[in-house]
Amino acid sequence: MGLLSEGSPLSWEETKALADHVREHGVNQFINLYHRLKSRQGDVLKWGDEVEYIIVKFDDDKQVARVALKAKDLLAKLNEKELADPKGVKSLWRPEYGAYMIEGTPGKPFGGLMAHFNLVEANMRYRREEVTELLASDECVMSITNFPRLGAPNFTYPLCQPHPEDPTSAARSLYFPDEAIFPGHPRFKTLTRNIRMRRGEKVSIKLKVFKDVNTKLPVEGAPPGEPDVVLLDAMGFGMGCCCLQLTFQACNITEARRLYDQLAPLCPIMLALSAASPIYRGYLTESDCRWNVISSSVDCRNEEERGLLPLQNSKFRIAKSRYDSIDSYLSPEGAKYNDVPLTYDENVYKRLIDGGIDHLLAQHVAHLFIRDTVSLFSEKVNQDDNEDTDHFENIQSTNWQTMRFKPPPPNSSIGWRVEFRPCEAQISDFENAAIVCFVVLLTRVILSYQLNFLTPISKVDENMQTAQKRDACRKERFWFRRSSKTTEQRAAAAATSTKAAVQEKDKEDKATTNGSNAPWSNGMPKLNGHGVNGMNGIGTNGIDSDHTDTDDEDNELFQLLTINEIFNGKPNVFPGLVPLIRSYLQSMEVDTDTHCTIEQYLRFIQKRAAGELVTTATWMREQVLSHPDYKQDSVVSERINYDLLKRIQSIQQGKHVEPALLGQGNHSKTKDFIPPALQKQLAKNGCCEDK
Ligand code: ADP
Ligand code: MG
Ligand code: MG
Ligand code: MG
Ligand code: MG
Repeated sequence: MGLLSEGSPLSWEETKALADHVREHGVNQFINLYHRLKSRQGDVLKWGDEVEYIIVKFDDDKQVARVALKAKDLLAKLNEKELADPKGVKSLWRPEYGAYMIEGTPGKPFGGLMAHFNLVEANMRYRREEVTELLASDECVMSITNFPRLGAPNFTYPLCQPHPEDPTSAARSLYFPDEAIFPGHPRFKTLTRNIRMRRGEKVSIKLKVFKDVNTKLPVEGAPPGEPDVVLLDAMGFGMGCCCLQLTFQACNITEARRLYDQLAPLCPIMLALSAASPIYRGYLTESDCRWNVISSSVDCRNEEERGLLPLQNSKFRIAKSRYDSIDSYLSPEGAKYNDVPLTYDENVYKRLIDGGIDHLLAQHVAHLFIRDTVSLFSEKVNQDDNEDTDHFENIQSTNWQTMRFKPPPPNSSIGWRVEFRPCEAQISDFENAAIVCFVVLLTRVILSYQLNFLTPISKVDENMQTAQKRDACRKERFWFRRSSKTTEQRAAAAATSTKAAVQEKDKEDKATTNGSNAPWSNGMPKLNGHGVNGMNGIGTNGIDSDHTDTDDEDNELFQLLTINEIFNGKPNVFPGLVPLIRSYLQSMEVDTDTHCTIEQYLRFIQKRAAGELVTTATWMREQVLSHPDYKQDSVVSERINYDLLKRIQSIQQGKHVEPALLGQGNHSKTKDFIPPALQKQLAKNGCCEDK
């Protein structure tokens, strides 16, 4: 999302009346953009993260912490630099749902050099410092997934009260005042109102309370007959959470579809590993993650669509919220694992097919388009379907799924991209950078070794629920695809192939490059999937790079593995994600500092997966349970909330080392520039750092 322009939102009645108009033109726009861009080739790897933050205000006298409703003013200042020099800034800042939230990304995406992994954490640190400079001494910018007392009495600064009876209120929540919704752009309140209106009632988010010995039932506000439920009733409870997202550019549409598919089964796995949100509205719950909360927080399905009433006025029963895990794979290899029924309008599907879109992509788009627009601006109603893509984007950008398949924007140099969206925001830049670098490395390994993680969608859905359970990272098991023999051979062969051979291969690639995913640099470590030991490289190791699925007959192809086994390996079943990355790295030339940084990240991930370090969610629970003010009643009081956030502040500032969370402290060699010596080498090798 670019800097948001102001606009005039239509009323819900007007928006509703234009639902078919948006659908019709959105589909046309997709067909047109597809044909304009389907043959686009040779985009290089670029990638970037998005981190969302909450602004917290501490009252040290009263020992309370609140969310500070100042994102609008803060963004005005943060955006000044960008407005003056859009291409030269080191960070970009965007509004998010909460009036207490901001989203930061690097000023420009990182690219295909190993050395770029060393820049991520420094850039995150820079972002945090940049915001901190603009805050008062009692305020703090925090990358926490949820503010523990969000929606509890008096959680905002300045104090605002909800007005559930006010007909002009967007949320009409009992707990979440409209003032906590970002006021700088009408999109957020409009979405809130329209989702509620479309649904026909307020959203309803239900979490089981963590039952302790003194937990008082019913929980305040519990729905009738469900005394152990913490009920949340507004979009802000979900969209007001923070997350960590990643976007990668693929060399072409085929690679993008493949990455989308291969990463989809890893979404629940990364959700479990990054679990960071056990507390809602001041209660400890049974859930460790935000996912179901945010999913329910924008669930615009009416009762017929949810299956509570017979279909009369609505077209379909719809199985999931528009915010949920993906429902179908996009690559030919993925097709046979599309085992959940896909809801879509046959006419829309047929228009896509007649428009020259293949079955898998047509059903994906048709499925996205079962949703109605829930936010429409008068300026955007009439569009040129040959040029504009706003109606397509309208529906695409309000299908908030674990993965997003992003077509190139109109008139830009940007290629086909995929976005990885499940991860929860971590406390420290180190942790966030570790997760980002890990996932980017994983994409390279997937492409290079032609790994196959495809798992039936129904099992991925099951894993999504498992991932959110209390302490899932240490206690639960997840459906995971057993690796084929060839995968292990590929990894082993790559690990033994010498760097010299790799460099020799680079020269060959240079000579034979056909423009597809052309490397940026020659003889330098680069990360394009088909570069070093990808399509071509593997062949040289004498391993059949054909992707065969003969082992599909094996009824033990899908096994239940722990997070530890998935990341660190299980003999004869799966080599482990981290060992696979390590073996890939052995064939790469990496400068010492970057190597050191990556190693720290990998070790951290291994330890968390092994349970040697705990997830943020588990750590937060332990902080609450051991707090002197805790009454074993599941309640996270103002005082506990304050102390927890103070502790988090000192961790993110590096003032306090928390061994359970981060071991004995981490000292990555992160830098905010590529060292001159390396740059010289790049220049010598004819690399263009950025185009
Ligand atoms: P959205 O909110 O729609 O997901 P953002 O613009 O907030 O998108 O974030 C997109 C992320 O993609 C940022 O980290 C950005 O650095 C990165 N990015 C920008 N251009 C490219 C590109 N060409 N390829 C891959 N990633 C990119
Ligand atoms: Mg964004
Ligand atoms: Mg976004
Ligand atoms: Mg965001
Ligand atoms: Mg995003």
